[in-house]
Amino acid sequence: MIVSEKEIPKIVEHLKSQGLAALPTETVYGLAGNALKEEPILSIFKLKNRPKFDPLIVHIKDVSELNKYAIQPIPKAASLLTQKYWPGPLTIVLPKTALIPDVVTSGLPFCAFRIPQHPLFQKILRQLDFPLAAPSANPFGYVSPTNAKHVAMNLDVPFILDGGPAKHGLESTIIGFVEKGKALLLRHGSIPHEEIDKLVPGLLDETSSKKSPQSPGQLDKHYATRKKLYLIEDLKSFKIKETDGLICFGHVPYQGKNVFNLSTNGDFIEAGKNLFSMLHLLDNHSGINQIFALKLPNIGLGKAINDRLERAEKN
Ligand code: AMP
Ligand code: MG
Repeated sequence: MIVSEKEIPKIVEHLKSQGLAALPTETVYGLAGNALKEEPILSIFKLKNRPKFDPLIVHIKDVSELNKYAIQPIPKAASLLTQKYWPGPLTIVLPKTALIPDVVTSGLPFCAFRIPQHPLFQKILRQLDFPLAAPSANPFGYVSPTNAKHVAMNLDVPFILDGGPAKHGLESTIIGFVEKGKALLLRHGSIPHEEIDKLVPGLLDETSSKKSPQSPGQLDKHYATRKKLYLIEDLKSFKIKETDGLICFGHVPYQGKNVFNLSTNGDFIEAGKNLFSMLHLLDNHSGINQIFALKLPNIGLGKAINDRLERAEKN
């Protein structure tokens, strides 16, 4: 059921008694449960039908919580990142302490941490004495939810807290400190690769690496619509049929009810915010049988958006 901010006291009680709630974050909506207990974590995996090898991100309220949950000392580069981007759409992976159960991290000795920026998520965290594990609130592999309705259409959760449309609309950028002296980019996300590169010299892009366990869960097939999606490099020879949907970007010679422009001005931030909601619209549009998506320039947030589209195409 979709509920408003007034129901936060009930949500807090529900989370304290090991229940789950879908909560707004600035990236996408998350399916949250107590990160320190096995039972809610197992319920998250079950409800999402998520494979157990795909670890969860742990959401903390304050950077000082890392003293309890991450092995000290924290690498200097990780501290630089948390100072600049927390609260916000950056996740860091660090060696974990025993307080974080192994089910959260799929048995890995590392845990992914983030402080979310959404005021309602923060309000809830402040009333809890445990952090929240919260993967995206969608069935595994499907398009991530960027508003409360997307969650309600696809998951049966007792509480879905409406916090408006997600500000960024793309998942967090993940940086791993899982090998001594190295910083690894594990997932493209809401903070562009180039920005992090400036702050962390020597950042290694591991996003296309198949090497487990560094990027578990970064499966080829993901973020997929139920309708078939085809990625196109350019629109030169593209002819749109009445039953085709088109996702495009920037100034293009196409308009109409089946054309969804991520940003007519070519603004990557606007495009990121629109991506998943337009995929949801196209997937539920009764007149459309298949979806074509124009590849974005592979720079800045264009990389994160292309990554989602490429995985959606592989389904
Ligand atoms: P999400 O499903 O958006 O919450 O993202 C979770 C993703 O974060 C996983 O699919 C992994 O790619 C990454 N992740 C989470 N925990 C870890 C970890 N302990 N080590 C490496 N990557 C992780
Ligand atoms: Mg997800």
